[in-house]
Amino acid sequence: MSKNTPKAIRGTQDIFGAQAEAFAVVVETFERVRRLYRFRRAEFPAFERTEVFARSLGETTDVVSKEMYSFEDRGGESLTLRPEFTAGIARAFLTNGWQQHAPLKVATHGPLFRYERPQKGRYRQFHQIDAEIIGAAEPQADVELLAMADQLLKELGIGGVTLHLNTLGDAESREAWRAGLVDYFGKVKGDLSEDSQERLGKNPLRILDSKDPRDRAFLADAPRIDDYLSDEARGFFEAVTSGLDAAGVKWVRAESLVRGLDYYRHSAFEFIPDEGSAAAEALGAQSTVLGGGRYDGLMESLGGPATPAVGWAAGIERLAMLVGERDWNEPAVAILPESDDLETRAAGIAALLRAEGIPCWTAFRQNPKKRGIKARTDGANASLFIKRSDDPNGEFKITSASEGPEELELSRRVMAILGKDRFGL
Ligand code: ATP
Ligand code: MG
Repeated sequence: MSKNTPKAIRGTQDIFGAQAEAFAVVVETFERVRRLYRFRRAEFPAFERTEVFARSLGETTDVVSKEMYSFEDRGGESLTLRPEFTAGIARAFLTNGWQQHAPLKVATHGPLFRYERPQKGRYRQFHQIDAEIIGAAEPQADVELLAMADQLLKELGIGGVTLHLNTLGDAESREAWRAGLVDYFGKVKGDLSEDSQERLGKNPLRILDSKDPRDRAFLADAPRIDDYLSDEARGFFEAVTSGLDAAGVKWVRAESLVRGLDYYRHSAFEFIPDEGSAAAEALGAQSTVLGGGRYDGLMESLGGPATPAVGWAAGIERLAMLVGERDWNEPAVAILPESDDLETRAAGIAALLRAEGIPCWTAFRQNPKKRGIKARTDGANASLFIKRSDDPNGEFKITSASEGPEELELSRRVMAILGKDRFGL
């Protein structure tokens, strides 16, 4: 690399090879599962007016106050690279008049941007899969979304991760709890961390998920949401938990789980690796893989009609780390012409096989032996040698990397397509 080659931006990644395959497995599995649950696919802009995020998430949240990539465009308008999906989806729901589709189930995935301190599992450009149900006030919507998340993790083969679930109550319960917390923490304000002293005025619920030991000392005796829940909010939570039990989704109650964003009501949840599990080891301290909740107040903060909704998002990079590095998941055959004048014939054969769904490895130069070696290092499972058609040994010869059933089946299919009698085996 020359000194004047530009460097990649801090916190961005060039994902390649086995990690990129794992990334693709996450996205493909999500696509399959969202179809099972009949979520519609949607695409949204990667940037929005800054107010979309500022008004939905709340000015006091970490995301809005510290993490947004905001800039003025050439027309003088303040725009922001999306730090999360939900606010933009809510904006789209309102500006497109999608009320007619309610309850609308949508799924999307793509890049998000947050100005964070980069570390393992935490980047400035990262990617999420996202699922939302908009226009459903029923607890069954929460249950379905959580069942979908649970099934996704199972289908990805991710174990040792558990659903941590809380309720924040309805607006009324949440307000009363908030006042209780302000009162309680206010009495010991001087002993709290500097961050939490600031949170006390702006976002007191966040004190509950502080990692600072000065704050943690007061958490055990802090007021609990359960003491503030209205009958309705309590009934809602019971409907969610009994629905999860019926759907076979394991969960644990997490009374201090509050989530960072202001718009949450009722259900708030995160899937977190179990302590000591391989998943916890793989992710280090950055442990939440999937998080979400119900955001009944969000549409109104964007000037829309009251529209109950619930959703979740999961970091693709973190899921891919749990899936583990992946290789090609389908066997491929290397196409190896014996001499330069057979290059065109080889391309024709590759086209024929690919049209039949056979993955073909090809290279564009070097003798068959060298190509064969490169093909093996690239993971090709069989080699198809192409000779001149007047060759007495036949035009084709196929060899397998091993006698495994996958390799033999691949060779058999290739032979069947090319015509068995033309093989010099
Ligand atoms: P954290 O507590 O890790 O900062 P968060 O509460 O900010 O997470 P959400 O906004 O709920 O995260 O995003 C949902 C998921 O997106 C997270 O559980 C995580 O998997 C992923 N995620 C969030 N921020 C990042 C990031 N900077 N880099 C990679 N993945 C991220
Ligand atoms: Mg964060």
